[in-house]
Amino acid sequence: MKLTDAVVADRFARVRSRMAETGVDALLLSTGADLPWLTGYEAMPLERLTMLVVPAEGDAVLVIPRLEAPRVVEHPSFAVAPWDETDDPIALVADLLGPSTDPSVETVAAIGDHTWGRFVVELLAARPGLALRRGVEVTGPLRMVKDAAEIAALRRAAAAVDAIAVGLRDERFSGRTEAELSRVIVERMLAAGHERANFAIVATGPNGASPHHDPTDRVIEPGDVVLCDFGGTMHGYCSDITRMFVVGEPGREVTAEVEAVYAVLAEAQEAGVQAGVPGAPCETVDAATRAVITEGGYGEYFVHRTGHGIGTEEHEDPYMVAGNRLLLAPGHAYSVEPGIYLPGRFGMRLEDIVVCTPEGPERLTNAPRDLAVVR
Ligand code: ZN
Ligand code: ZN
Repeated sequence: MKLTDAVVADRFARVRSRMAETGVDALLLSTGADLPWLTGYEAMPLERLTMLVVPAEGDAVLVIPRLEAPRVVEHPSFAVAPWDETDDPIALVADLLGPSTDPSVETVAAIGDHTWGRFVVELLAARPGLALRRGVEVTGPLRMVKDAAEIAALRRAAAAVDAIAVGLRDERFSGRTEAELSRVIVERMLAAGHERANFAIVATGPNGASPHHDPTDRVIEPGDVVLCDFGGTMHGYCSDITRMFVVGEPGREVTAEVEAVYAVLAEAQEAGVQAGVPGAPCETVDAATRAVITEGGYGEYFVHRTGHGIGTEEHEDPYMVAGNRLLLAPGHAYSVEPGIYLPGRFGMRLEDIVVCTPEGPERLTNAPRDLAVVR
C-alpha cells in the first residue's frame, strides 16, 4: 500500500498518543492488517519473523528478514533492521524492548492480533516480565475512523463492484452453474482493478439459505432465487456488495412469496442504513433491521448480525450487532446486510457499504436494489 511520509507520521503520532492513553510501553506488529495500515508494509506470513517494535519513547524499528527488506518502502517514522539467516530475531525484538531481565519489572506490550502463536510464546520466554495485551486496544479505535484518503479508496472499490452488480442484470444465469458464475464475478473484479478477489458467493435456490454458501456445480434453473455476494481488495481497501436476482421465464413470474420476502428485506436494509447517524450506538443499526424483519414475520430466519466494519480488512471493527454500544462517528465505514434464510427453500440478503458522515449515513455502493429478474 502506498502511503506518504505525512500520512505515516500522522498515524505514528496517533498510535503513540493512544499508547500513552492506554498505558502501553511498546506496540509489536507482525502479520495482519495493523502493520500495513501504519507503515504501508505488509509482512509475509512466514516462519521468518517480521515485527515492528514501537516503544513509547524512542525510535520505532522494523525487524525484518534480510531477504524481505527490499520490499519495504522506507519512511522517516521508522528504522529498518534486517536480520540474517543465523540471527535470532526474537532476541532482537527482546533487546528493543529494553534490557530488563528482572521479572518483577513489568513491560506492557500490545501485540498485533494476527501474530503467530509461536512468536508470542518465544517472546514471552525470551523477555521475563513482559505482559502482553491485544494490539487492537491501541490500533482498533484509530483504524476504525477512516481518513479522507481511505474513504476515497473505499469509494473506488465500491464503484468497481457496483458496475459488476449492474452488469449481472444482463447476464444469463439459467443453465450455468454457481461455480461458473462465481468465476465470472472473480474475473470481473480483477479486470475492474482489484488486486485480489476475496470471495464471490453465488447461492442459488435452496443453497441460498446458507449465508456463506460455497459455490457448487448446481445448475441454475428458471424460478431460482439467486444471491450474489462478492468483494475484493483494491489499492489495499475492500469492497463488498450483495444483490438479489430471480431467474425468470416467460409465463413464470416471480412468486408472491419471493416478492413479499424481498419487500421486507429491502425495507429492513433501508431502515438499518438510515439508523446509522453519528452518535447512535452501533447496536441500533442492528435493532433497526431486525425490527422490520421481525415485524414482517421472518425474525427467526435472520440468523446473523447486521454488519461489519470494512477497510483494509473485509471484516473489522465496528460491528453492527446487539450489545455493541460503541457510538457511530464520522469516518466509520461498515456494511448493512440483513438477510432472510428459509431452510430448504431460498435465502436473501441485501448489502451496501455505508460511511458515517457528519450529515448522516452515506451509501458507497449504489447499484440498483430491486430484485432483478434475469434470464
Ligand atoms: Zn458481502
Ligand atoms: Zn459483508
